[in-house]
Amino acid sequence: MAQYHTEQRKILYEFFCDHPHEYFTVKEIHSFLADQGISLSAIYRNLASMKEEGVVRCQINKDSRDLLYRFIDKEHCANSIHLTCVECGKVFHMNAESERKMQAALSAAEGFHINKEKTVLYGTCKKCQA
Ligand SMILES: [Zn+2]
Ligand SMILES: [Zn+2]
Repeated sequence: MAQYHTEQRKILYEFFCDHPHEYFTVKEIHSFLADQGISLSAIYRNLASMKEEGVVRCQINKDSRDLLYRFIDKEHCANSIHLTCVECGKVFHMNAESERKMQAALSAAEGFHINKEKTVLYGTCKKCQA
């Protein structure tokens, strides 16, 4: 039983890590994770405990009155290079593999080391390019 809960928690955690600066309703999270077999009530339960731990923050959408959840992970943020889309304003974390390649190229060519915490790249996200 405990294992089962841990698994659901892991699915949610990974979902939030992929969407670090976005707000979601429980229904949206559920539709993203539906194929992973996590139930609506399991999402509610896990979000409640993550909120208590301060890993997730929630606020009310003024128009729809829906509760919106957002992932707060300072450590994950401090260890990530942020990508900001100038079209839609969304913020993403660069994936570790791209980061590693960029750092390796800069080290080799310029002898320069990136401060991840302070680095933001501005551009256009995949969705906005389409
Ligand atoms: Zn971040
Ligand atoms: Zn965009």
